[in-house]
Amino acid sequence: MTDRMVLYGGTFDPVHYGHLITARSVAEARGYDKVVLLPSASPPHKAPASAGGAERLEMLRLAVAGDPMFDVCDIEIRRTGKSYTFDTLEALRESRGGGVEVHWIVGADMLADLPNWHRAAEVVDLATIIIALRPPWHERIKQALGDLVARMGPELAGKLAGGVVTTPLIDISSTDIRRRVASGLPIRYLVCDAVADFIREKGLYRG
Ligand code: ATP
Repeated sequence: MTDRMVLYGGTFDPVHYGHLITARSVAEARGYDKVVLLPSASPPHKAPASAGGAERLEMLRLAVAGDPMFDVCDIEIRRTGKSYTFDTLEALRESRGGGVEVHWIVGADMLADLPNWHRAAEVVDLATIIIALRPPWHERIKQALGDLVARMGPELAGKLAGGVVTTPLIDISSTDIRRRVASGLPIRYLVCDAVADFIREKGLYRG
């Protein structure tokens, strides 16, 4: 049997229903029985997280507690420093053996930047990148994939095109949640209740 791991990376600052609904709909579309949520220590392509790694990890654990569909992996949080996908793939292959087949879920908004990732060609070669395509990105995907042919070559761009999965539009972002908390607005129905309680108890995102 193939040793397959499906990862969904992000800052998760904090994890919200947009992440969870996306992960579940990708899993259903692709027939995955488990998705591993992988918080980055320090995202290479965006501003540093507001909450600490341990707190973001705990919020993920609270969000998916009791759901066998999800696991949470602390490999990037433990490694600290910039969380390069290539390094994580190497570490996983070392710990699980070179035969591990890694599927890596990313949002379509990440696609344009993908060629700039550290050792991008090797990442696309080593892992199956699954692109969660939500409105309005479905209108731009042809253009984005066309750009990738020019930047990464037809073979890798073709591999990326094979991983596109359509997902619903859930217009929630961690940025908005952080802003709402800082402004004293409720975040119920945007994040799981246990995550909202944790944010309140720890005084996160108050600005
Ligand atoms: P921020 O607002 O801080 O930039 P975010 O809400 O985009 O954060 P991340 O943790 O950076 O969340 O995202 C992790 C992954 O989840 C990315 O691939 C991103 O495209 C995807 N994602 C985030 N929010 C949604 C959403 N509402 N629907 C679908 N995918 C999402």
